[in-house]
Amino acid sequence: MNLFVKTAKGLICLACPRTCNLQEGKPYCGVRSAGEGKGVCEVYGLVSSLANDPIEKKPVFHYRPGSLVLSVGTLGCNMRCLGCQNWEIAHADLSSYEWQLRRISPKELVAAAKKYSEGVAWTYNEPTVWAEYVHDGAVEAKEAGLYTVVVTNGYYSLQTFKLWEPVIDVFRIDIKGYRDETFARFAPGTRAKVVLDNVVRALEAGKHVEVVTNVMPGINSRDISQIAKFLAELSSEIPWHITRFYPQFKLTHVPPTDVEDLVAYRETALSMGLKYVYLGNVDVAGAENTYCPSCGNLLIKRSGFTVEEMHIVGDKCPHCGKKIYGVFGG
Ligand code: SF4
Repeated sequence: MNLFVKTAKGLICLACPRTCNLQEGKPYCGVRSAGEGKGVCEVYGLVSSLANDPIEKKPVFHYRPGSLVLSVGTLGCNMRCLGCQNWEIAHADLSSYEWQLRRISPKELVAAAKKYSEGVAWTYNEPTVWAEYVHDGAVEAKEAGLYTVVVTNGYYSLQTFKLWEPVIDVFRIDIKGYRDETFARFAPGTRAKVVLDNVVRALEAGKHVEVVTNVMPGINSRDISQIAKFLAELSSEIPWHITRFYPQFKLTHVPPTDVEDLVAYRETALSMGLKYVYLGNVDVAGAENTYCPSCGNLLIKRSGFTVEEMHIVGDKCPHCGKKIYGVFGG
């Protein structure tokens, strides 16, 4: 799948819905270009961040809990949110940051992953901007028996999804808002429907899907109940992580999310029928644990990014036999 196309207007990038004309100068994400008549992903294999993380840190709670996943990121982002937590790399300029990057081929990445981890996750910045490297690494990872994860803002094209779909197991997608006017407050030029459609698409393709919403007071907080309704109607099984916002980057004037509000959002989502709703970036007793949606017994006890107790047998509750969404065990 080629994510570039030549048209009468110029060389267009198809990786995300911005469809930048690369012959008009630097694109929105800053890391793709028109090189000698064909498209180039300038950060292919250029790694800014690499770590063996617990998969819980992504956060992914229902796929191989307790496993380590080699997590890799580069530079650039197609959304460039004003409250970005990883703005040092997501908003970085390649020319001034290049000396800090390591070149790692897909084969080398997978060889490194096999030392300590059971999977590979493309994370830290938006995987879409190096979609080809994600694909090539995922091909190698699947051949090596590793699982694969993208931690994404969901703002990618159908072409990118088709590239990833055969080789990516887990789509951890942010739903940052439900309406275009909400997205306009923190990521101008983006559309809510693209993200929502990509959640549906991944689920319909049989992928493991988990969703994160970071609640920015006064920015996306009015959309939380609409996101809950959307997810509940799509599938009550989807794990939803509602996380606390901390002021950063260009949203330092926005206060941290009120903890009582987070607890109320979780209660509302559960009352709407969602079975697995978690709170993140905050210490609320039990809000990171998995309970059986049928009998209510504790199935996974977590503390921070650590799995302290694991009671799921196969993929079922040991008390009532209810099937639990996800992949558990090796
Ligand atoms: S991935 Fe980058 S270059 Fe491609 S369309 Fe999106 S913002 Fe533009």
